[in-house]
Amino acid sequence: MIPVMRPWLGEEEAEAAAAAVRSGWVAQGPRVAEFERAFAAHLGVEHAIAVSSCTTALHLCLIGVDAGPGDEVVVPSLSFIATANAVRYVGATPVFADVDLATMNLTAETVEPHLTPRTKAVVLVDQGGMPADLEGVRALCEPRGVAVIEDAACAAGTRYRGRPAGAGAALAAFSFHPRKLLTTGEGGMLTVADPALAVRLRRLREHAMSVSAADRHASAQPVLESYEETGFNYRMTDVQAAVGLVQLRKLPEMVARRRELAERYHKLLDGVPGLVTAADTQDGTTNYQSFWVLLPEDSPTGRDDLLALLAARGVSARRGIMASHLEGAYAGHPHAPLPATERLTRDSLILPLFHQLTETEQDHVAAVVREAVER
Ligand SMILES: *Cc1c(COP(=O)(O)O)cnc(C)c1O
Repeated sequence: MIPVMRPWLGEEEAEAAAAAVRSGWVAQGPRVAEFERAFAAHLGVEHAIAVSSCTTALHLCLIGVDAGPGDEVVVPSLSFIATANAVRYVGATPVFADVDLATMNLTAETVEPHLTPRTKAVVLVDQGGMPADLEGVRALCEPRGVAVIEDAACAAGTRYRGRPAGAGAALAAFSFHPRKLLTTGEGGMLTVADPALAVRLRRLREHAMSVSAADRHASAQPVLESYEETGFNYRMTDVQAAVGLVQLRKLPEMVARRRELAERYHKLLDGVPGLVTAADTQDGTTNYQSFWVLLPEDSPTGRDDLLALLAARGVSARRGIMASHLEGAYAGHPHAPLPATERLTRDSLILPLFHQLTETEQDHVAAVVREAVER
């Protein structure tokens, strides 16, 4: 079976994890600090805070913009459900906006109708690694006092207006789950522009402790920490960070390989009537975290039949991005019509794309898709 995704892990990561174990310090410590510095340098930002997942990073971001009960936060329904759930964690109300059909992302045009006096923030997702128009959405929101948080879960290695995705956001959240490019097993990173907020979120990540456990350990004198607010245990371990440091060095090679394979998909699927595929946007380049294809509405083979056909031919593809508003967790949750979201979630699928995918495997995947849609 050709999987849809496979992490690109090797001996170097295994050695790095083993070295962390042998050091005797496995919780958040020097390797997490080093990973944070390396990630911040990669992005060209000042403050990166390693956390246990992108979901917990999003939770902290929403605390960082003071979102709470009575507030609304605009999110795409077309996203992994954690985007909307994080809004509920702080007691605020997720407001689902539709997305642009070509990029699967929110835009200033799709967000604008949902801004109300209660809107606290917008969570802008770089869906599948395709960069959202951060500047357009910021220009709409910030004059109205609405914060923009970038959910860059999928977007390590993506570029927007000449910089890494996330670099231009006041707050951004990344995921290191194995379904994304750079992986630490579980894990995430939060980047934050405001230095005072960085101090606060760094503390909230670790029980709101005034002095981190690692710093207390490093001190020759006894240090008494204090706890001024209710914090969380959202820490990353040094074993994860050790793996992350290796993965971060490999990121450019991962992105290059994915882009090369995506180019091959474009060629192999060229001319299939009505088929739309993931591609670079006007002002950025995708890391192709997900290579999605959108079937024409009159496709002779429907999406679910195509997934079944692919499975029968040894290919593990996936449905396209989910729509949160269609899940039981959001049953009865009011929302405006979301036609692009519903079309995308119904008619799209994600094809296998990973570092070790061979050209022969890729030819096979494309041939099955071509046959099904051209029939
Ligand atoms: C994967 C993903 C998340 C959740 O990431 P975790 O690290 O698994 O918590 C959040 N938002 C988006 C858009 C994602 O794709």
